[in-house]
Amino acid sequence: MQRETWKEYESNPLTHSAAHYLMTIRTLLQERGYARVTDIARALNITRGSCSISLKPLKKRGLVTEDENKFLQLSPEGERLAQLVEKNDEVLESFLRDVLGVDGEQAEIDACKIEHLLSLDTSLKLAGFLHYIQSGSKTIKEFLREFGQFNTECAGDATKCNVCDSTCLAEAASAPTTIIRPASRGVSR
Ligand SMILES: [Zn+2]
Ligand SMILES: [Zn+2]
Repeated sequence: MQRETWKEYESNPLTHSAAHYLMTIRTLLQERGYARVTDIARALNITRGSCSISLKPLKKRGLVTEDENKFLQLSPEGERLAQLVEKNDEVLESFLRDVLGVDGEQAEIDACKIEHLLSLDTSLKLAGFLHYIQSGSKTIKEFLREFGQFNTECAGDATKCNVCDSTCLAEAASAPTTIIRPASRGVSR
């Protein structure tokens, strides 16, 4: 189902970078009780200059505030967004790793990439589903055991593949213009 949503991708309320700034400020405030530009820059391994530039739109939107001594705080809305993205990241990573069986590191990477894009509704449904799975009833244990035995390896050939439909994903991934393997992006050209 292709809607016009992709056109709005860039106008997502929170960019990925903004989400990480908010989460970093939140962590710093929790861990040491204060967050200055220097602290954020160090935590994100970037220069103070680029950190200041990135913080500007967040201050303008009222998500981050700065006092006269240059100490940064999150506004209630900034705090809410940071919490939501953190929660999304946690739930997505657990869903990908514990339910779908994605490799731990890949689950962490993919969760990070989409954590800021989920609607609240999807986020709640996903969290609910995960709680349900974690309740560990007999039916769930059986379901997970059976799913674990289901072959989720792509056979590389759509006629034999258990996973893909008309297009085999492994075939698509080995094509030279792939967007599925991020590592090959920008290297060949
Ligand atoms: Zn991320
Ligand atoms: Zn396949």
